[in-house]
Parts: sequence; C-alpha cells; structure tokens
Amino acid sequence: MRTIFRKAHVCDPSQGIDRVADVVVDEGKVLAIVDDSTPYDVGSCEVIDCSGLVLTPGLIDLHVHLREPGFEYKEDVQSGTAAAVAGGFTAVCCMPNTDPPLDEPSVIRGLLKRAEQVGVARVYPIAAITKGLQPEGLTEMAALKEAGAVAVTDDAYPLQSAEVLRRGMEYAGQLGLPVLTHCEDKSLTKDACMNEGLTSTIMGLRGMPAVAEETQVARNCLLSLYTGCRLHILHVSTAGAVRIIRWAKERGAPVTAETCPHYFALTDEACMGYNTNAKMNPPLRTQADCDAIVEGLLDGTIDAIATDHAPHAAHEKAQEFALAPFGIVGLETAFALSFTELVSTGRMSLSALIEKMSCQPAKILGLPGGTLAPGAPADIALFDLKRSWTVRSSEFRSKSRNTPFEGWELTGKPVLTMVAGRIVYREG
Ligand SMILES: [Zn+2]
Repeated sequence: MRTIFRKAHVCDPSQGIDRVADVVVDEGKVLAIVDDSTPYDVGSCEVIDCSGLVLTPGLIDLHVHLREPGFEYKEDVQSGTAAAVAGGFTAVCCMPNTDPPLDEPSVIRGLLKRAEQVGVARVYPIAAITKGLQPEGLTEMAALKEAGAVAVTDDAYPLQSAEVLRRGMEYAGQLGLPVLTHCEDKSLTKDACMNEGLTSTIMGLRGMPAVAEETQVARNCLLSLYTGCRLHILHVSTAGAVRIIRWAKERGAPVTAETCPHYFALTDEACMGYNTNAKMNPPLRTQADCDAIVEGLLDGTIDAIATDHAPHAAHEKAQEFALAPFGIVGLETAFALSFTELVSTGRMSLSALIEKMSCQPAKILGLPGGTLAPGAPADIALFDLKRSWTVRSSEFRSKSRNTPFEGWELTGKPVLTMVAGRIVYREG
C-alpha cells in the first residue's frame, strides 16, 4: 500500500529540507520527496492532504520508562507506545529499572516480543550496566546486545563506584555499546527530595545541591576520555553540568547529552504548595539553570531533548512531598512544550528542534529513522503548528497522569503518526 502526503511543509534537517513538498511512502519506506506526486498516484494509494501541516521524521525518545515488566499498573508497552505515537514519537528507548530489570537476555527478548505483538511504536531496550541494578557486578553485555539491547545504563540507580563504571565502560566500549548515565553523587543527596536553594529552605525540605549532579558529570566525562567509551549524559539539569560537558567535548571526549522539556520550562518554584507532580530526579532547578540549558541546546553542547517519561499511579503521587516517588509523564506534552518554549519564542528554529528530537537521538544510539531520505523507514510525524491546545491529563493515552503541566496552553499538536508506513495514530 502506497501513501502520499500532499502539500506538506516538509522539515527534514538530515537532508536540509524545509519546504512545501509531497512525500511518497511505499512498502514501509520513504520512496521520494517531490514537488508534484501526480505520477506516483497509481494503484491502491491513500492521499493525505497536508496543507498547512508540518511533516517531519518521527520523533525518537532516548529516555522512557515503559514500566513493563513488573509495574504495569503505572504503564505497559501498550499504553506507553500509544502515548508515544500520540506525542509524535515513532520510537522509544526504554530504561531497565523494571521488575525483573532488563539485565538478562531473556527479559530483553520478552520485551521485544511484547512490543512486536503490540505493534505501535518501535521499542529499543536499554539494558542494565550491573546485575539487578546493584552497586557492582557487571551484566553479560555481549549477550544483552545480541538479544537486542542498544545501550546500557545505570538510570535510577547511579553507580557510585568509579571503578565499577570504568569496568562497565571498558566492556561496553569493546562492544560498541554506548553507556548512558544518571549523574548523582548519592552521598550529597541523602533524604533529599528537591533542588537545594531558596525554595527548599522556604518549604523546609532537604535539597539536592547542583554539585551532586555536576561532580558525577565531570567524573563520567573524564572516564569517557580515559576509556574511549561512548558516554551519553541523561537529563542534564544544571548550568554547571552544561559547562562541564562543553569542556569535555572541546577536549574530544566521545560524549553526548540530553535534557528534558521540564528543565527549561519550569523552575523549583513549581514545587511550592508541595506539588508532588513537580518532584523529579534530577530536580527542577533555578531560572539561571533553565537559561543555561537553552544556551547548551543552541550551541550543541546538549544534543537531544528526551522526556524521561516516568509514569506513577495517582495514589503514589498523593503522598506527602518527601515520600512521593520521583518523576513525571512526558510523551504527550514534550513536543508541544519544546515548540512553545523554544520555537514560538523565537529562540530556536523548527529544524533545530527536529534535529534535537529526531535526527540526533537516532545518531546517538545508531537507530534507524531520524531521516526521510529515500529508502529510510517511513517513520513520520505530522504536526499542526498553528493549533493551541490545553493539557488535560484525563485525555492522555498513558495510564498515568502525573504531569506538572495540567491546564497549560501549548502550541503545536501532533495530528498523525506513521511507523514503517502504517498509520498508528490519527487525531480524532
Ligand atoms: Zn534518571
């Protein structure tokens, strides 16, 4: 079956395309981008009028907690990938802190089988660096890669031992697997639940200082330089972390970095009123940090925008602030938040945003997609960038509703998502 997207504003930074054109999709792949698709309109062919809409390579999220196996009451492969495609994402990379964790080839294979059965978005498992996400004891990374893992990470359980991370990087580096790290010196964040600063003082809560993130960013960048292993820094939240990554890149460290929309859209003041939907790790920081994050995105220090989609059930977030779990959902708001905060304000071009949310994520983990070059998989997102809409978590496809953006007016709505030539989401 052939599909023709007619008169779309095609934005594909991978090929430098930013103009109105027709996109022809055939047998799950991009066939051509042409000014006039009439000669291609033969046989059984669906023609989609895209006047006024923007068509891009499907977004790729490097940082998603699908919660399956083990925590299906928060999210599962079905609901998580449904939320992804409703947000314009055609692929998600999922984190290993499940139960059982993604530390055995059989668990990776089981997850991939589930994703194939569900058949919505592409799912790329990221395996654990250590067995059981424990402080030491490396996983069998070769077997995990063989089973389908695309990287390894310590997310949610940051490795405190430099020696363990060093050995993990040496092992992963030999296999060509990137290492993704959550940077947090736990000795500086014991019992802390938000950013350390004026707001935490006013609220009477124990804070996590920025330096707890920054010391590990520095350590991990140095270990990347030392071992030569590809390092990707997860969810950068502080100005100091941006400066350290910039320094490491200037010295040729094979380092990339991501941030999340909440780290430039919100400050720690969102926690006021003990709002547990503003509790995440790393925590929301200050306006100066938000500004430095945007600067880092603009100058290329921060390569990608991911969501850190972290669903939690309502009863879990309904606890008192210090006890509630860390994390927010993000798949269904990430694009509109980024577009509203960065592009609508004139700070970033649309093509730079697509670069951060599609092309770079594909490059960082060596995934298919991130391009509409002829022969590439037909993973496509279509957006109405003129549309304003209100965030209503009750309408989310995700099983969880833990968002700090409830009621926000955003601009930019995903209206259609295609994976491998198949329409997997269509608004209305
Ligand atoms: Zn994390």
